[in-house]
Amino acid sequence: MSATRLDGKKIALKIRAEVAQSVQKFVEDGNAAPKLAAVLVGDDPASQVYVRNKERACEKAGIASRLDRMPASTTPAELLARIDELNSDQSVNGILVQLPLPQIEGDGPALDEREVLDAIDPLKDVDAFSPINVGLLMQGRPRFLPCTPHGIVQMLHRCDIETAGKHVVVVGRSEIVGKPMAMMLAQKDSTCGPQTANATVTIAHSRTSNLKEVCLSADILIAAVGRPEMIRGDMIRPGAVVVDVGINRVGDRLVGDVAFDEAAETASAITPVPGGVGPLTIAMLLHNTLLAAKLQSGQ
Ligand code: NDP
Repeated sequence: MSATRLDGKKIALKIRAEVAQSVQKFVEDGNAAPKLAAVLVGDDPASQVYVRNKERACEKAGIASRLDRMPASTTPAELLARIDELNSDQSVNGILVQLPLPQIEGDGPALDEREVLDAIDPLKDVDAFSPINVGLLMQGRPRFLPCTPHGIVQMLHRCDIETAGKHVVVVGRSEIVGKPMAMMLAQKDSTCGPQTANATVTIAHSRTSNLKEVCLSADILIAAVGRPEMIRGDMIRPGAVVVDVGINRVGDRLVGDVAFDEAAETASAITPVPGGVGPLTIAMLLHNTLLAAKLQSGQ
């Protein structure tokens, strides 16, 4: 392996310590500790692990948390009523609904993710999925930044990886990762994170016909596809930086969207899976929860 391993875990710990310090100061200034409410519908094992990890991370940062478990049989009206309640609860600063929502059993109405996310008060939308927050990001004046792309921006910055003038290829165009990632890196100036902008960005997806060539043209390649190890070593330009967002379970192993060993032969720097982007996502959720508390207290 010749590539530098970008240690997301270490950077995430540093960011979490910074957030914890800011939370402490916020409380010392006379404010209540920020509070995050997580809503978990159904009993998907991976979602349970994610929510538990988020709760633990909150606790370590001095952020209060509340977990609302709802059964898989929850109706849209029940879920929307719970969100309404959390929207009006003054003690709750941030609300996240763990995705994916379960498919409804039987003939009842299905839970519509978009409708549910749209119902969250934009000032409490710590995942930054609401149309208002997405719109503000598009316009280059973001309020909250979506956690995974923001974590990547922070990592690039803290590892001194310049993006201005670079060709960034983002493989994947989801609302959660690919699309906001591309938008953040293409912004004029660093409105979306410290000195991380002004890139020339290409978005690739399942209908991209020449994916290998597109990937080979990337100075920075960001894979957010959800297909185990589909980005092979021969798709990477020598010296490129590779960011692997994918988390795929293969047997009892977690693998990324990039074939790590092959890619590390060619890349100059690469994130591992696990221990790369994943921990940064949680760190930025804590950051957003504190930001939400500050916004709600008029700061
Ligand atoms: P989605 O399934 O929502 O989106 C996947 C994207 O990949 C789509 O845009 C799709 O294209 C594209 N795609 C699928 N197949 C191909 C292909 N063969 N060639 C090119 N593009 C393709 O996934 P997410 O963005 O939500 O997640 C992506 C991965 O990142 C998953 O493994 C997920 O678990 C992980 N993840 C990790 C996080 C972390 O914290 N590390 C956070 C969030 C996600 P099209 O639009 O045409 O269908």
